[in-house]
Amino acid sequence: MFTGEERSAILIVDDEAANIRALTQAIDPGHEVLFATSGEKALEMVAKRTFDLILLDITMPGLDGFEVCRQIKSSVGPLCGEIPIIFVTASITEEDETRGLELGAVDYIAKPFHSAIVKMRIRNHLKTKKQCDYLAHLSSKDGLTGINNRRLFDEELAREWSRSVRAQSSLSLIMIDIDCFKPYNDHYGHAEGDVCLKRVAETLNSVMVRSTDLLARYGGEEFVCLLPETNCEGARLTGEKMRQAIDKLNIPHAHSITTDHITISVGTFHIHPSRQTTPLELIEKTDQNLYRAKKEGRNRVVSSEFVERS
Ligand code: GH3
Ligand code: MG
Ligand code: MG
Repeated sequence: MFTGEERSAILIVDDEAANIRALTQAIDPGHEVLFATSGEKALEMVAKRTFDLILLDITMPGLDGFEVCRQIKSSVGPLCGEIPIIFVTASITEEDETRGLELGAVDYIAKPFHSAIVKMRIRNHLKTKKQCDYLAHLSSKDGLTGINNRRLFDEELAREWSRSVRAQSSLSLIMIDIDCFKPYNDHYGHAEGDVCLKRVAETLNSVMVRSTDLLARYGGEEFVCLLPETNCEGARLTGEKMRQAIDKLNIPHAHSITTDHITISVGTFHIHPSRQTTPLELIEKTDQNLYRAKKEGRNRVVSSEFVERS
């Protein structure tokens, strides 16, 4: 499945133009190749976009390659930490090579190098990177609907919670549950149930407008949506838009107790994360609102927010 020939983005970091040229020639055509002539410039570029591979010189004026590698490997966030780095350098001492690999580089190539060998090494590392990316993608997506899965949601909730505590910002959560889905499955069959779940996921996804909002399948016929920096009214409105969008799909449901088509019940909760509260509390409170929406007749949104005890 992976040939190593997929288009990748490669960053060459070297203070000498001749080295950049030699390395560029060792890269298969078709890849996107960018270069930086200093460590500082390389860090700037890495902060702005992601790369599939970095070829990094060690001896450069200003920041040296070791420091650049250390900073990239210690950065948090999806763009940096996992980029494979290959040192390409004239320093061939055992000490330097060990240090480079200890810093997290995947390989160490001594200059002058044989172009054909470097070409193959680059190809192999790119292939491994694509495989890792694919596995990371698989492990974060729900197999049926293709949206994020609960595992990714749990990770993001923890991350977003900490970020909100630090930034003293707020967070809302939406929980969505399809109404009377068991009778839908019983009547139309499990395969039709799956089709319905996919359409619901797609539609919920289309309602979200902010790139920071995160929708995930929480389990069975339940979905969650995390809305950073969104207040109670914002969450309620988004929940209501979701409810209306699913209602509008008009998927026939002959055995629903609410109406004659598929509907959802929605609970939302807004909180200012602090060290005195936990993500679990946010989940429980949102779930309680979802439960109220069910009890009050389904096909509705119930919202509330955390009220500080004085
Ligand atoms: P309520 O309105 O109170 O939410 O009732 P409900 O019937 O939706 O709730 P219940 O929790 O009793 O049933 C959920 C059903 O969702 C049970 C199961 O058949 C169905 N379900 C869960 N996961 C899947 C899935 O992956 N595919 C399909 N087709 N059905 C699923
Ligand atoms: Mg249900
Ligand atoms: Mg349920």
